[in-house]
Amino acid sequence: MINIQKLSKYYQLGTRTIQVLKQISLQVETGELVALVGQSGAGKSTLLNVIGLLDTYDEGSYHLQQILMQGLTENQATQYRNQLIGFVFQRFHLIPAKTALYNVALPLYYQRISKQERLARALDMLAQVGLKDHHQHLPTELSGGQQQRVAIARALITNPPLILADDPT
Ligand code: ADP
Repeated sequence: MINIQKLSKYYQLGTRTIQVLKQISLQVETGELVALVGQSGAGKSTLLNVIGLLDTYDEGSYHLQQILMQGLTENQATQYRNQLIGFVFQRFHLIPAKTALYNVALPLYYQRISKQERLARALDMLAQVGLKDHHQHLPTELSGGQQQRVAIARALITNPPLILADDPT
């Protein structure tokens, strides 16, 4: 599923170069559950963002389902993310002006699934995370824990082979 070899990433801070990921090698097979543990600032979010195709790396290689994830255009990255990855962000990143139902259904829009099916599947997914009665609520009308469940439902709705969660509680 994930095959990372000697991956490094650098940040440029003024004239200083900081190596934030140092020669990381990691293999994750289908069906595996892996926790990334380390002190704050260790680079966990950065690595998750690289794996989630939200950020790039400088050295080494990253294959996702045997495909080399390197030098992707923004469009390619978006497509791979939509097809392969569900991401639960640390701060949820729900669309504030849209209902829970709309937020959960959105990834299916990019898969060109009909509106009727999108809404039906989103409602079903919200029911699975215990929020069926809250589907018309805006994110601001939900508690932190409820917002996180909406974010989880949105990550699961496409049934992706890879689910990434940053600091799930
Ligand atoms: P963690 O998730 O393990 O707490 P992060 O991946 O968020 O760690 O950060 C790793 C290191 O990279 C930290 O030292 C942080 O200050 C640095 N860092 C993160 N993002 C940037 C950035 N955009 N520019 C410069 N340094 C950054």
